[in-house]
Amino acid sequence: MRAILTLNSGSSSLKLGLFSEGLETLALGHVDRIGRREAAMKLSGADGSPLPLPASAPDDFATNAAALHTALAAFQSAFPGLEVIAVGHRIVHGGIDHAAPERLSEPLMKELAKLAPFAPLHQPHNLAGVRAAVDTFPGTPQVACYDTAFHRGHPFVSDTFALPRRYYEKGVRRYGFHGLSYDFINGELTRTEPELHKGRVIVAHLGSGASMCAIENGQSVTSTMGFSALEGLPMGTRPGELDPGILLYMMDQEGMSASEISSLLYKESGLLGMSGISNDMRTLEGSDDPRAKEAIDYFCFRIKRQIGAMAAAMGGLDGIVFTGGIGENSARVRAQACDGLGFLGVGVDAAANAENAREIGAGEVRVLVIPTNEEIVIARAAKGVLDL
Ligand code: ADP
Repeated sequence: MRAILTLNSGSSSLKLGLFSEGLETLALGHVDRIGRREAAMKLSGADGSPLPLPASAPDDFATNAAALHTALAAFQSAFPGLEVIAVGHRIVHGGIDHAAPERLSEPLMKELAKLAPFAPLHQPHNLAGVRAAVDTFPGTPQVACYDTAFHRGHPFVSDTFALPRRYYEKGVRRYGFHGLSYDFINGELTRTEPELHKGRVIVAHLGSGASMCAIENGQSVTSTMGFSALEGLPMGTRPGELDPGILLYMMDQEGMSASEISSLLYKESGLLGMSGISNDMRTLEGSDDPRAKEAIDYFCFRIKRQIGAMAAAMGGLDGIVFTGGIGENSARVRAQACDGLGFLGVGVDAAANAENAREIGAGEVRVLVIPTNEEIVIARAAKGVLDL
């Protein structure tokens, strides 16, 4: 059986997708906590039901490459005769120049490696995933899909910081991320809501990482994430928007090094830091600790604030789409983020919202819940680029 494999290789996780040549989902896989003893793999078939896991040895998830081999062995036993004809990769950063998916080559790998300082916690792991796939499938074409690509058409005011111009020239810009998710939602709107797609839509991708994107007539016009995946909304362990004076304070007064600040910003802040309980929204929603409520309140307030800002940026609003683990499942967050936005024509129907219905709006502005699917965007791109 010929199939397209998609890989999303992170620092301690690996997400895989297996698709037929006709782009039907065959299987999805997720390995968590790579390199730790508690590492675990979940595999599911086309209908979401779990696929049997092979008996695993202690080293099976020691590295991303080992995790890839373990997951592939499981796919191979589930799909005898499996032949991977293309591999598509999620690459967090395409820099200034890469605005569309493209076939990976050694020179391109070198160029993408140079962007690692822009995304030190993601880019090297993404590229390590490409290396592992090249070693595993020598000669099989590999395609890069960039999380920044969807936003490359931003107007200058959404692309820049008010720093001396030389930094802009060096690439210190507002890139925006989660582009594969926005691409998917945009495609769903084109297919199922052609009128709304022509209008002004805010998409809130709320998962462990969270961002929002204003999309006008199918084009990203501004996004909450900027130079790095730290900007904008608070997230599971990242703070979102911060006064840069705080970083100066931490360096000068607390004597923190760059790596200590990096750890604070990427791993200790956000919902986890504020609540002191968990980075996981489900856990916070289930807690009666007042700090959990405060963390959720802050998260929802920042979303609401951005809805107002993005509506202003687009000169009005026709729709809001919630997606990502929290956006798709948390009625509380959706209701609280939209609460009080009646002046914009935004309302939420409590019963539809409680059921995670697709259409939850109760005002002039459409409010939709659409599950995202970044893997299918990568698979489509691989098929398209390679003309399969
Ligand atoms: P990732 O960015 O890692 O792909 P996800 O999109 O899976 O993350 O989102 C993970 C987040 O979604 C977690 O905070 C989790 O608690 C939250 N989530 C998942 N299901 C629910 C639910 N039923 N209610 C509230 N939050 C949920």
